[in-house]
Amino acid sequence: MSYTAETRRRRTFAIISHPDAGKTTLTEKLLLFSGAIQIAGSVKARKATRHATSDWMEIEKQRGISVASSVMQMVYRDHVINLLDTPGHKDFSEDTYRVLTAVDSALMVIDAANGVESQTRRLIEVCRQRDTPIITFINKMDREVRDPLDILDEVERELGMPCVPMTWPVGQGKTFGGIINLRTQVMTVFESGSERLPHDFDAMPLSDPAALKARFGSEWDTALESMELATGASPAFDREAFLAGKQTPVFFGSGVNNFGVMEVLDALVDLAPSPGPRTSSFIVNKQPVIKQVQPEDDAFSGVVFKVQANMDANHRDRIAFVRIASGKYSPGMKLKVMRTGKELRPTSVVTFMSQRREAVEEAYAGDIVGFTTHGGVQLGDTITDGSVNLLFTGLPFFAPEMFMTVVLKNPLRTKQLQQGLAQLGEEGAIQVFRPEMGGNMLLGAIGQLQFEVVQHRLKGEYDADIRLEASQYTGARWITADSPAELKEFVHAYPQRMARDAADTLAYLCTSPYDVRLAQERFPKIHFHPLREHA
Ligand code: GDP
Repeated sequence: MSYTAETRRRRTFAIISHPDAGKTTLTEKLLLFSGAIQIAGSVKARKATRHATSDWMEIEKQRGISVASSVMQMVYRDHVINLLDTPGHKDFSEDTYRVLTAVDSALMVIDAANGVESQTRRLIEVCRQRDTPIITFINKMDREVRDPLDILDEVERELGMPCVPMTWPVGQGKTFGGIINLRTQVMTVFESGSERLPHDFDAMPLSDPAALKARFGSEWDTALESMELATGASPAFDREAFLAGKQTPVFFGSGVNNFGVMEVLDALVDLAPSPGPRTSSFIVNKQPVIKQVQPEDDAFSGVVFKVQANMDANHRDRIAFVRIASGKYSPGMKLKVMRTGKELRPTSVVTFMSQRREAVEEAYAGDIVGFTTHGGVQLGDTITDGSVNLLFTGLPFFAPEMFMTVVLKNPLRTKQLQQGLAQLGEEGAIQVFRPEMGGNMLLGAIGQLQFEVVQHRLKGEYDADIRLEASQYTGARWITADSPAELKEFVHAYPQRMARDAADTLAYLCTSPYDVRLAQERFPKIHFHPLREHA
């Protein structure tokens, strides 16, 4: 098969939801119906206690789970589907953002009783910024839930784009009769239980309204009425608009009962996009050379969107998760890290077939491969086969919103601490800032749990026992200037506020929002960035 044919049959998407909406259940059913797994329950079994707690064991367990099941590949209708899970806990929202940079679409799961919840809202914002196409699945229709019109209305408002129902529910909870497929004009009749395969459900054509009315009574009339209202109020499905992130197709169902899931799997094949071009900005003579990299280009290229340390503390290796942007990966090929110009020699290279890791035979744009290395790769790195000069941008780091000062309990462990912080910083587990004037290192995070994970891992993996002390800083801005002289002047004005992050980028530490404003007024030519893109 040509590269073009291979990339066209690929679908790479992230599954997003608020905890408990049914993401794990749906993931499992998608794997089950595509034939990737035989027995339901295997994804579930890997899921730790639902909510992250600050309990150490829990953190360890969660890391294990995210390695095991964060990327899953399945083949369905001759399409290769890559599913990327996103961390549920809000304290790890940076990780989620990065996962969303590695996908071409998102599947949003909503609990029909709760509607759009806080965590979903954050994820939606991220998708909206990137115009990621979103498929919506309204789950748990077998329970007493909200009126479907109501839910659609809320999703529309939160998403800021029209919903286009692709299926419509008849009844709900105890009276849940099934779903009408608006395209095929067939009703699939609901039955509860998790043994049924999608084709085992009864199907009744809409062309026989008498039979439907006889079977579902007044629920049928109500459903028809609300369906007419919904379809009347929403635009027709327009694939271009969906791909541009301007409307979302909506499906109803019940994941736990295997119901309405096949429709979603088909939508991933029929509607979701195959990998698209990615922008590279390679610097030549201090000038960026912008290039659109096509998935079917010959040269192999990809981006590291996640780095995960080995669970076994005795092995200091890490897996760099690379989303392939172009070309083909085949075993034994040369790999170059574009940031350093050095060759990457992974000790192993894996794909993620359902939940097993397997040695890669070949992989194409859209696929995720895991390179196990002993270092030399960072989050955001561009990897190529060395035949092209490419540098992908767009993997973001957000300015931390909380800071802690690191105090090492045993000063003899300084080397271990530095090594640990460097590696955890590269993984993106936390942001590490080194004050220019010297003194203790600072840790910057978005969520409190990040501090706890890092403290725990420093002790467990690097034998560096630390204490975290409150810091006066509450924010940071990355600093750039149009001329080196201006930058120098600024640094001289605030020497005690300057720090460098893991990528050696200069940042200004602030103690309040006014800080930045005042500094900006004093130095109008300095740029203060709340977001740093890996370059
Ligand atoms: P996650 O936190 O989003 O991954 O959610 P889970 O898949 O673990 O589901 C959370 C809970 O909701 C579990 O107890 C599931 O069994 C239950 N659940 C998932 N889908 C459905 C559904 O369609 N109907 C009902 N009644 N419960 C469901």
